[in-house]
Amino acid sequence: MNTPRLIDGKAASARVLEQVRREVGELLAQAVQPALAVILVGGDPASQVYVRNKILRADEVGIRSQEHRLPGDTSTEQLLNLIKGLNDDSSINGILLQLPLPAQIDELRALEAIDPRKDVDGFHSENVGGLSQGRDVLAPCTPSGCLHLLEQTCGDLRGKHAVVVGRSNIVGKPMAALLLKADCSVTVLHSRSHDAQALCRQADIVIAAVGRAGLIDASWLKPGAVVIDVGINRIDTGNGSRLVGDVDFANALPQVSAITPVPGGVGPMTIAFLMKNTVIAARQQHQAQRNQSEAVCHSIY
Ligand code: NDP
Repeated sequence: MNTPRLIDGKAASARVLEQVRREVGELLAQAVQPALAVILVGGDPASQVYVRNKILRADEVGIRSQEHRLPGDTSTEQLLNLIKGLNDDSSINGILLQLPLPAQIDELRALEAIDPRKDVDGFHSENVGGLSQGRDVLAPCTPSGCLHLLEQTCGDLRGKHAVVVGRSNIVGKPMAALLLKADCSVTVLHSRSHDAQALCRQADIVIAAVGRAGLIDASWLKPGAVVIDVGINRIDTGNGSRLVGDVDFANALPQVSAITPVPGGVGPMTIAFLMKNTVIAARQQHQAQRNQSEAVCHSIY
């Protein structure tokens, strides 16, 4: 077998961001500056880092960003009020509600309150439903990033057998929907699956999105499989800690044809696709406004 290839998420995300920067430039030429509002409720340290990185990346590609920090004891109604204001603000194209939310907040109500046209995380049921019907909608960022890496690595995905390990609403399920849309044959595994390891071993493509360090090793993989490791797990190293994926990288490496490292694989793709979704949302909203203005002109003349 050929030497396994490392799938470089940093380089791939830099290329996506470069394309986004160009598209922002095209919109600016039409006097449209894409704008993203990020809402953070409470002081979760990891969420603060994620939000800071999203704002930084937005600035880098020319997307205007707004950060809304709400205290940890914010009620659902207060959050809904903020979301309503952002929905009504035509200068905002994308709204991102950083998860997880404090326990007193009704997460589903909050996500459903976001205007689906501004739902750059792709979590609104209208976008979830559209994706499952194979329509072009704002799709969740992490699975979109994974699909991009797979297309870059494998080329044509049609007919390949993909196994998605994990069925969460934010990664596993939308990942399966995107792979189906790309004409893969898709198997989804979860904590109740019988014989998960044997099923996984049949896959040409494995997407691991479980949240268990090193769960998947070479015994789960067919020789030559392409592996995308979504997992981010912090493990104790005795004298500190480090991040690892759901795949036992060193053990899996000799068995695969290509694999993402953790960190440096899927992680950078998530933010890149958030920026991409913000530009898509801005372009669609701008087009809708133009169509509306033209319709008004036609009705007058
Ligand atoms: P969830 O905890 O929401 O879902 C985990 C899924 O794994 C569940 O569907 C669960 O099954 C399944 N599972 C648990 N144990 C097993 C097992 N032994 N065999 C097969 N399936 C199992 O996690 P998320 O989807 O939110 O995240 C998954 C991982 O991805 C985490 O490490 C997270 O940090 C990371 N992540 C990384 C991102 C990035 O940008 N790189 C973005 C988002 C997440 P069941 O449904 O039956 O409980």
